[in-house]
Amino acid sequence: MVDNRYIGAHVSAAGGVENAPLNAAAIGANAFAFFTKNQRQWVAKPLTERSIVNFKENCEKEGFDTSMILPHDSYLINLGHPETAALEKSRSAFIDEMQRCEQLGLKKLNFHPGSHLNKISLDNCFKRIAESINIALEKSSSVMAVIENTAGQGSNVGYDFTHIAEIIDKVEDKSRVGVCIDTCHAFTGGYNLIDDEEYRKIWDSFDDIIGANYLAGIHLNDSKKPHGSKVDRHASLGEGFLGKEFFIKFIKDERFATVPVILETPNPDIWGEEIKWLRDNI
Ligand SMILES: [Zn+2]
Ligand SMILES: [Zn+2]
Repeated sequence: MVDNRYIGAHVSAAGGVENAPLNAAAIGANAFAFFTKNQRQWVAKPLTERSIVNFKENCEKEGFDTSMILPHDSYLINLGHPETAALEKSRSAFIDEMQRCEQLGLKKLNFHPGSHLNKISLDNCFKRIAESINIALEKSSSVMAVIENTAGQGSNVGYDFTHIAEIIDKVEDKSRVGVCIDTCHAFTGGYNLIDDEEYRKIWDSFDDIIGANYLAGIHLNDSKKPHGSKVDRHASLGEGFLGKEFFIKFIKDERFATVPVILETPNPDIWGEEIKWLRDNI
């Protein structure tokens, strides 16, 4: 019986990446996410040697297992971009992010697969994303590219498990690709996680279509928008359409005992309480 879970939040790295593990420890987290650079800018200064050393020291001091740290890439990146110049720009930025993770001794980088912008087919978009992953894996040596499911807002791909499976199918080194499931995105993207029968079927189909072994992380968010709405608006746990009962069911589920479970809920002031509440409900 596993009664531990790796739970944390997407914490601030303001003032330097070395602050992220301290911010995570302060809310009682034993997992966390953060940005290794300003997520709204294309180019960032390289990490300083001092920042890298301090980050590693702080992670060790606070007892974080590096496989429970799930950095998130910049929102600007679109690895399935229909236009060559923009695709190249995204690919370079993504390679830089993979390399930053390596410098920090991290094992995973979480990203949203991409958008077709209504200019290319889904298939063509999947091909571009897979090729982007292949290039990034070649230009780095150890970090796993972790594909996040989306809500399907706009022309974002990745809201259906089959999308993710098709991308993974085209990735050459399958040992370095993984999947992060965001509960808000899954719910508004079409998966009715509330219903107990559906809940079982959803995770069975995740295993059938993608493979349970690819699960590398969870973003645990409630949703301000209803099931199937395809809108990405996170709510604090129990304050949205998923509701408290769902999170109690989820945190008891041992399938998620070995991956980082990350809150991206909108009120950082209550992250500590949310984590504690989840732990109390295991
Ligand atoms: Zn997410
Ligand atoms: Zn989201």
